[in-house]
Amino acid sequence: MTSTEILSGSKSGILRAARILNDGGLVAFPTETVYGLGGDATKHETVNRIYTAKGRPENNPLIIHVYDEKRARELVKMNLLAESLANSFWPGPLTMVLKQDFSGKLKIAETAVSQLETIAIRVPAHPVAREILRLCKNPIAAPSANMSGKLSTTRFEDVQACMSGRVDAIMDGGPCPIGVESTIIKVQDEIISILRPGTITEEQISSGLGQSFSEKKKTEKKISSPGQFKSHYCPKTPIRLNIIHPRADELLLAFGPLPAGVKGLSLSEISDPHEAAMNLYSSLADLDELARITKSSAIAIQPIPKIGVGIAINDRLRRAANRLQ
Ligand code: AMP
Ligand code: MG
Repeated sequence: MTSTEILSGSKSGILRAARILNDGGLVAFPTETVYGLGGDATKHETVNRIYTAKGRPENNPLIIHVYDEKRARELVKMNLLAESLANSFWPGPLTMVLKQDFSGKLKIAETAVSQLETIAIRVPAHPVAREILRLCKNPIAAPSANMSGKLSTTRFEDVQACMSGRVDAIMDGGPCPIGVESTIIKVQDEIISILRPGTITEEQISSGLGQSFSEKKKTEKKISSPGQFKSHYCPKTPIRLNIIHPRADELLLAFGPLPAGVKGLSLSEISDPHEAAMNLYSSLADLDELARITKSSAIAIQPIPKIGVGIAINDRLRRAANRLQ
């Protein structure tokens, strides 16, 4: 059991977070997507602590976070395609899987990338995350701040509920504005493949590049993305998808106004997919708790159109509904 400091998102909290990270400690901090659980990616013991804190299988590599493209270049080889994507989307919620550049001075711990020859790298846009990364001397491995396979966290209180006693510090940086994890793409020569959908869509990537891209067939045997784990992001309560009218003993997660007399919450009263994404994990956490108290049998979820960020929301919900036991 680790004693966990609570930090504010102010300048002093940011300085403290960077100091703990520079000393090899673990800090949960906000990003624009979800809360991250950060640690120095070059230190083996720190990286091992990340896996232990999350109960994460070691074949599930971590996203490496850096302050800017210049620092990214110290770790990965960026071809013209990757450069153009970085220009369009960094800082922001786009993770690129690129070949490691082993010639540089900086060495990522092998366990951080599950012994792969690639690195999933991201330059986040959240001002607090950026300032922390600017002050860190090394890249930061930061998976989502939640127990492996469970709901990601987008509110300080949810991070505290699952990470207290497991990390050295948790920062209260308010709610995460986007609410779903970054889009992960693999850039291999001239081919881009989407490994995990996010708020940056295929259309946006195509228009950022000024051309459409061909999606390579995913033939890799190794797990290269959580998109390949069929069960993930699970609340304790079972989930039923695409339900308009819930059963009497279910709670409803509505997309649009919550119907009169029905127990539950709305992801967005005005059916706005971006608002729905922002509220996704916090609403599921609240309904999970309400289901426990009211002994409800399931969380029924209304259909959400599979366009734009709705594709990412449906991806997460499909996995959330796919419980292992
Ligand atoms: P999370 O940390 O929960 O946001 O998940 C990050 C995901 O990024 C992991 O589950 C990985 O599958 C994916 N990832 C990280 N590194 C790589 C890599 N080198 N190649 C492909 N996917 C990766
Ligand atoms: Mg995660």
